Amino acid sequence: MKIAQNTVVSVNYKLSDAQNNLIEDGAQPMVYLHGGYENTLPKIEEELDGKDVGYTSTIQIEPEDAFGDYDPNLVKVEERNRLPEPIEVGMQFEGMAEGGDEEPVIFTVTEIADDKVVLDGNHPLAGMALRFDLSVIDVRAATPEEITHGHVHGAHGHDHGHDDIGDSEEGDHFRSQPLQ
Ligand SMILES: [Zn+2]
Repeated sequence: MKIAQNTVVSVNYKLSDAQNNLIEDGAQPMVYLHGGYENTLPKIEEELDGKDVGYTSTIQIEPEDAFGDYDPNLVKVEERNRLPEPIEVGMQFEGMAEGGDEEPVIFTVTEIADDKVVLDGNHPLAGMALRFDLSVIDVRAATPEEITHGHVHGAHGHDHGHDDIGDSEEGDHFRSQPLQ
């Protein structure tokens, strides 16, 4: 079966930066609903559209097509006593960007000094060109329910009680899953 709108695609992947430094060795295949549901990056869908099981490819995606440019305005220094303890580098908090719009931003602790903490609201992959090694291992038709929900169910997808309130981003592998 060829990859087309409303197929469920399983793809083994390896994610590196433009210098070929490994970022994520996809231990589990990415399984996503194909066809503009924003389950994965549009450039990946573009690359795989019309392809079949066994197709392999390496693509490089520039920051503007991935997680955006690095925005220095999203870095802020907070008084340590305004944050919960214990605190360590890598912890994440939801907060508002200063002077930003209403969208909450996930801040990652990137540095801790005696009484100050540096919080970075950029996506960990912002500003990076991403290189994906892709290998299609399965393609199947999506179920009507998956199409309605806009995401994959079952093995490797997400299981939920179908009270879909607020879960529109579940199964959205490269956007909602924190990457180290
Ligand atoms: Zn669902």
